[in-house]
Amino acid sequence: MRVICSSPIGHVNAPNRSAEALSRLAEEWPITSKSRDVDSTPAQIDSGLWALKLPLPLEGLRYVVCYVREVPQGIVLVDAGWNTPQSWASLENGLAQIGYGVRDVQAVVVTHAHPDHLGLAGPIRQESGARICLHERDALLVPTSTTQLADFLSSYRRFLTECGAPPDEVLAVTEDMVEAVTYLDMPSPDRLMTDGEVLVDIDPSLRVIGTPGHSPGHICLFDEKRRHILTGDHVLPRVTPNVSRRPGQPPYPLAAYLASLRLLLGLEVDWVLPAHEWPLRDLDGRVNALLEHHDARLIETATTVAADPGLTTWRVAQQLPWSRPFDSLTSDMRRAAVGEALAHLEWLEMKKVVRRTTGAPWTWQMV
Ligand SMILES: [Zn+2]
Ligand SMILES: [Zn+2]
Repeated sequence: MRVICSSPIGHVNAPNRSAEALSRLAEEWPITSKSRDVDSTPAQIDSGLWALKLPLPLEGLRYVVCYVREVPQGIVLVDAGWNTPQSWASLENGLAQIGYGVRDVQAVVVTHAHPDHLGLAGPIRQESGARICLHERDALLVPTSTTQLADFLSSYRRFLTECGAPPDEVLAVTEDMVEAVTYLDMPSPDRLMTDGEVLVDIDPSLRVIGTPGHSPGHICLFDEKRRHILTGDHVLPRVTPNVSRRPGQPPYPLAAYLASLRLLLGLEVDWVLPAHEWPLRDLDGRVNALLEHHDARLIETATTVAADPGLTTWRVAQQLPWSRPFDSLTSDMRRAAVGEALAHLEWLEMKKVVRRTTGAPWTWQMV
């Protein structure tokens, strides 16, 4: 199934594992386990703050980390997991171990509108009446009716044609496609969030930092007093988050992502709490590693175009290195790879390094 949150490039820029292992929480995280079973035992991070791992039906990332925050009337969750019975059971089990139930959930604050973060918020709201909070830009990604699916699919087919995808790849865009199925399984938010606001009515210790890139309305949540930041999929400790140009979404996601990374430099935190994998300490170190990764990737992309002018986006993606050769990736991962290649090409276009021919498919040349 589609690895929606991590890049098809695989695990790069991993920090020095021995240094990482110094942190108590990272040691408690079973990161080396090959088992698909995810231990839902809560890890206490601070007083009134726990992390629960909720399993994902994905090939790559095994779980999403749901953070449980105690508030006067109950608990607030940050990110909710995929809408599956396994995820629901892990949530119930994990909450019971810290003395709560789903009915105690006052709100679910969702870092971005991907199904592994937003999906389970729907059933949680049904059970508890919790409010679902999402950034106003990502709220636009949540379909409000099933009739939008036809538009979504046709814009996806047009987009792949513009990218130079082979006809059979375009024909594979159907209602059964994972992106389409999960697209319809996302609940609408009750409360919209904006950049910079303090969530006074939800959890007043949290300030929203808008970090567009991985999705247009991605947010991080900064707890200044307790010196931690919840980074969603913006900063992950081992994999590089997927940054893709997607049909129907704003152009230049990579420019947004790089600016959003720089926004976090110098923030004084003791803990970085991501939505996948495990917590880390060194925010600046990880941000700089991610910036360097994209610098190198931009050079690879420009070199590919310079060596063979007139390539389509699909062909550029085919020639770039990924975790496995492009042609052996699954079709959903190939689509993610093409979206990511296009994000890098558009950044180079914005900087007037490359230019594209208009018409379908686009082709790329050096300026
Ligand atoms: Zn994710
Ligand atoms: Zn994501």
